[in-house]
Amino acid sequence: MPMDSSPTDSMSWSAFWNGPLGAVFLYAMLLVILAMTFIISFRLLVNRRKIGYLSMVLAIFIMIVQNVQIIIRTLWPIDSDMQYFIELSLKMLSFLLLHLGIYQLYNVTRKRDAFVLAVIGVVSLGVALSYWYLPGWLDGVNGSMRLVQSLGIELYMFLLIFSGFLLVNPRIGQNGKYQVLLTLAFFNQTIHMIDVYLLKGEQPTLRMLGIVASFVCHTVLFLLIFERIIEIMQAIYNSSIKDELTKLYNRKYFYQRVNQHVRMREPVSVIFIDIDNFKKLNDTKGHHTGDEVLMQVSHIVREETEDIGICGRYGGEEIVVLIVDPETDPRAVAERIRARVEAETVVTVSMGSSKLRKGQTADDLIKLADEAMYQAKTTGKNKIVTL
Ligand code: GH3
Ligand code: MG
Ligand code: MG
Repeated sequence: MPMDSSPTDSMSWSAFWNGPLGAVFLYAMLLVILAMTFIISFRLLVNRRKIGYLSMVLAIFIMIVQNVQIIIRTLWPIDSDMQYFIELSLKMLSFLLLHLGIYQLYNVTRKRDAFVLAVIGVVSLGVALSYWYLPGWLDGVNGSMRLVQSLGIELYMFLLIFSGFLLVNPRIGQNGKYQVLLTLAFFNQTIHMIDVYLLKGEQPTLRMLGIVASFVCHTVLFLLIFERIIEIMQAIYNSSIKDELTKLYNRKYFYQRVNQHVRMREPVSVIFIDIDNFKKLNDTKGHHTGDEVLMQVSHIVREETEDIGICGRYGGEEIVVLIVDPETDPRAVAERIRARVEAETVVTVSMGSSKLRKGQTADDLIKLADEAMYQAKTTGKNKIVTL
């Protein structure tokens, strides 16, 4: 069927988009984006049980209420001072909560933050109340009461956007997205002011532009929160498989990986490393130095093995390596590690290495490498034994 668009068709289209139904449709779409953002933030709040995430969830909830309110107003226009007041206050409140929420996604709220927040809260309350008092102060502008009433809050929004740049932007990651968010908020507010104060709401194109900016704004917000949640989840996962001090994998994860390769009968090897006379180092130089040396040794082991396998912290000062690359000679790797530790740190290491044999389990393999290391200990230390 040909895609001819008769004049009546295109007219009804533009009538649709410029009329209340078009606006309702677009706001309904915005609601969908907001609902998705709400769901993921709510899950974050429930999973992490951090009270800090509450402001984000509240902000998005208020934004949803705002959108529903706009839809209702578009379909059934009511004109009351109170309704405008509520709408403007919600706009201010949701902005405050949202940007506080974004700040809290990256920072633990401190006492000083609470103070800044209290100041902003009191100022905002004062500005909100100006809605009822401003026309009284500015006598003789009865003709456009509503416009004067809202002027205080509308201008204050610019100040809030500016505060976002000043207070939140330097303290969070993903600055690019946040800057886009603020710039769009600025753009939106400017369009809104021009629309309401200069053109008296008679310019449909401008209104459309405002809605498009809102769309982009909500989408960027969704992406920002979504990306942060992925980052947080990633960090939680990482800390569950890594050792805090050495940043090597922990014993449980290392064992899982060995098991995985052994079950596939791959030609893997394990190197078992134990620092020599470490207790003496702790006793003479203190635990802090001990920790530093342990980190140094871990760093060397990681550097020497990152392309050919994985390494983990097995126990106190015991490090294990799983070599998965069939081309690599474990003894040569062990020798490089031994030589580097001797040259670059104040300690030496004893090492045992073992290759997977027929019928061996992961436990057998690790145990044999441990035994080899023990032989290295008992026959002079600072050496490698292969079993
Ligand atoms: P050997 O040459 O026989 O291995 O002697 P050693 O002193 O290294 O062996 P031993 O296993 O008796 O002592 C290990 C010591 O490592 C005991 C403990 O004080 C120390 N240690 C274990 N974990 C840590 C740690 O995370 N930090 C520090 N600083 N010390 C640790
Ligand atoms: Mg030791
Ligand atoms: Mg030990």
